[in-house]
Amino acid sequence: MMTKNKEITVPEIGQDQLELLEKLCNATAVSGDEGEVRQIVLEAIKPLVDEVKVDALGNVLATKRGHGENRVRVMLAAHMDEIGFMIVDDKDNLFQFERVGGIDERQLPGKAVLVGSEHLPGVIGAKPIHLTTTKERKSKVELSSMRIDLGPGIGDKVKPGDRATFATRFKLLGPSIRAKALDDRFGVATLIELLKYPPDNVDLLAAFTVQEEVGLRGARVAAYHIDPDMAIAIDSTPAYDLPHWEEDFGNDHYNTKLDAGPAIYVMDRATIADRRLVTLLEEAAQEKGIPYQLRQPGGGGTDAGAIHKVRSGIPSISVSVPGRYAHTAASIARVSDWENTLKLLHAALIKVTPDFLKGERRG
Ligand SMILES: [Zn+2]
Repeated sequence: MMTKNKEITVPEIGQDQLELLEKLCNATAVSGDEGEVRQIVLEAIKPLVDEVKVDALGNVLATKRGHGENRVRVMLAAHMDEIGFMIVDDKDNLFQFERVGGIDERQLPGKAVLVGSEHLPGVIGAKPIHLTTTKERKSKVELSSMRIDLGPGIGDKVKPGDRATFATRFKLLGPSIRAKALDDRFGVATLIELLKYPPDNVDLLAAFTVQEEVGLRGARVAAYHIDPDMAIAIDSTPAYDLPHWEEDFGNDHYNTKLDAGPAIYVMDRATIADRRLVTLLEEAAQEKGIPYQLRQPGGGGTDAGAIHKVRSGIPSISVSVPGRYAHTAASIARVSDWENTLKLLHAALIKVTPDFLKGERRG
């Protein structure tokens, strides 16, 4: 019989984890209206943690304490919200809307959507090809002229302020996942898994944040309240690995690829990662043979962008699961990249020692 390994490890991604991710992706949680995802999170983590509360903005803040002396207090942040739409006006059951978060309006005509808390099915109407002129087909449809069509009989079921999301349902495609809102339900699901298998040497301070997509707002107040020693934002980052994309943009902004493991951030538009944390993650990956990629400087930002500037400064970094077609109706990502992200975070947390942050910031 083998000697029992005392080191706690996370399991591989299996049916349970995929079912949780599916539930999270199919829920609607456009920024400022994160209730559906919050319910799923609360249900999943209540039995796991020492303390849990929902703050004034709607962040879920949970504590899972380790054991031993001088434990480092590690904040792990994952945002519950997703990009989407807000209804602003109604004429004859055709609803005018605005974008919530970063969405390219060229992608919208013809997309199926779900509106409001009842998930009413509708479509962002597009003129059929039969009725368009050649000139129209070559030009962009302005957002102001788009409407969400819910068919007749909706009555007062939809009101200005209601949110809408893409109607895409979660689907496993062999080794891949196709879903909406993998940014950042990947992070939310990863954080829940880490709370199931918490490393003993640190205090895990989990923040399931709100309003990341509109300016990292929830993370700012969450970090202020938690006041951690260090922080890791867990997110999803745009993969940039299709050959035809390289010709006109150059593969130097978002250089992550599918199947190449979690993306460890060195820098993005909002944060320069703490060098000690980059080293920690790289060493953990190398020791455990976990594939990883370094995310080069470029656009985008995560909750770390707000967290590191709170109080007198919090050493922060981001780790992301790469996914193609971020902030569109459907992303494609790999189960293996998610699994390796979970493994990497767990392996890195185990390595955090009380004097870890006393080391040189720049190595
Ligand atoms: Zn995100």
